[in-house]
Amino acid sequence: MTVSTAAADQTVCQPLSVLGRDVRVPLVTGGEVEYAALDYAASAPALQRVWDDVAAYAPYYGSVHRGAGYLSQLSTDLFEKARVEVAEFLDCRESDELLFTRSTTDSLNLLAACLPAGCRVFVFETEHHASLLPWRGAEVTHLDAPRTPAEAVTTLERALAAREPHGPALVCVTGASNVTGEIWPVRELAEVAHAHGARIVLDAAQLAPHHPVSVQELDVDWVAFSGHKLYAPFGSGVLAGRSDWLEEAEPYLAGGGASRSVSRREDGGVDVVWHGGAARHEAGSPNVIGAYAIASACKALTEAGFDSLVARERQLVERVRAGLADIPGVTVLSLFGEAAERVGVLSFVVSGWNSSHFAAALSAEYGIGVRDGLFCAHPLVRTLLGSTAEAPGECGAPEGAAGEQSLNAIRVSFGAGTPDEHVERFLGAVRELVTDGARWTYRTEGGRCVPAV
Ligand code: PMP
Repeated sequence: MTVSTAAADQTVCQPLSVLGRDVRVPLVTGGEVEYAALDYAASAPALQRVWDDVAAYAPYYGSVHRGAGYLSQLSTDLFEKARVEVAEFLDCRESDELLFTRSTTDSLNLLAACLPAGCRVFVFETEHHASLLPWRGAEVTHLDAPRTPAEAVTTLERALAAREPHGPALVCVTGASNVTGEIWPVRELAEVAHAHGARIVLDAAQLAPHHPVSVQELDVDWVAFSGHKLYAPFGSGVLAGRSDWLEEAEPYLAGGGASRSVSRREDGGVDVVWHGGAARHEAGSPNVIGAYAIASACKALTEAGFDSLVARERQLVERVRAGLADIPGVTVLSLFGEAAERVGVLSFVVSGWNSSHFAAALSAEYGIGVRDGLFCAHPLVRTLLGSTAEAPGECGAPEGAAGEQSLNAIRVSFGAGTPDEHVERFLGAVRELVTDGARWTYRTEGGRCVPAV
């Protein structure tokens, strides 16, 4: 993707107001501290604005689509308006359909259920499992991890050119990696896909919260993202894009809302006429509050101004990268190298440390919430670590000599609500742990590293 460089010249905004900023958590070493939420890539805190909008709407909540009452009609209007607003946020084409789903995982599984017969799917091994795994009914070509954005484009081009027979094809690509934060060349991949008669779906789970996503500018056929990573944690996600494959497929879920009419046949069976449009794949009572919350988050981010949000996040990314580079024994994982454009997601390993142990110490001794493991992108993290082992070792004490291979990694991620202090505390804590070691002892319990007492 070619991401706007205009952000570099933009005014940097203040962090947006999010819930949980003043939550204090206990430390094993005594006392308590304001929680530093640095796991935005898993789930971002709710924007205060989203929470306020949802609270203001909640008394008016009613069943949608079928209710005759005033609040049902109001809720139906708001639900359908949310659809239009999110489509505008994504700069969808006039003819595109926008479906509310549960999440990115749900959206991509829905699309997978709509693939035309004989469709071949092309997917890089670097994808999150949500975009790597849903294509079970199709022939899948898994592409090796590219080491530059340009190599991603040539790898895809070669694979598409070699495809036989020339039936329908879909490329699935992530916009920003949930492991390295690196931005993928989405526009260029879309160009190659279309030149070879294939379609492309963008997994924007990590991109949409950090960057404007324009379906038309990127020229992707579909886009998927999750509300809970976009500051709207009310259980909704989005799939938006071309309507033809969606219209031609059987409904994703069978049930009320998707069915226009159902009648008994003479032979005792049941005939169903399914709806077209969004309703076809949205059977059951939709998550109105979830959809409303996503639309509210889209408005909040747009009003805050993506250019200044991007500029601020870029400063934080640079601060974290420079800070980590200055700490001996810390290696930041990267596929595309120094020059890559990134969102606020970085994974790293610390020489001589089990990553679970390190993450547990950041939490228990500093009140910092990060993530450790393989981040539902096992092939990518194993490629980056150069490891093939199945499971990380036991924690309990710093283990592994300097230079020994790590089996999992630590991920720090942040966004529009992150204050500078959280990033500074994180860097200070990493340095202290590396220099002085943990002050507490830890043990493994249920596969997780936890303080021993
Ligand atoms: N794609 C990417 C790139 C992700 O980071 C994630 C979540 N970590 C997903 C898909 C899946 O999102 P969800 O769990 O909300 O379905």
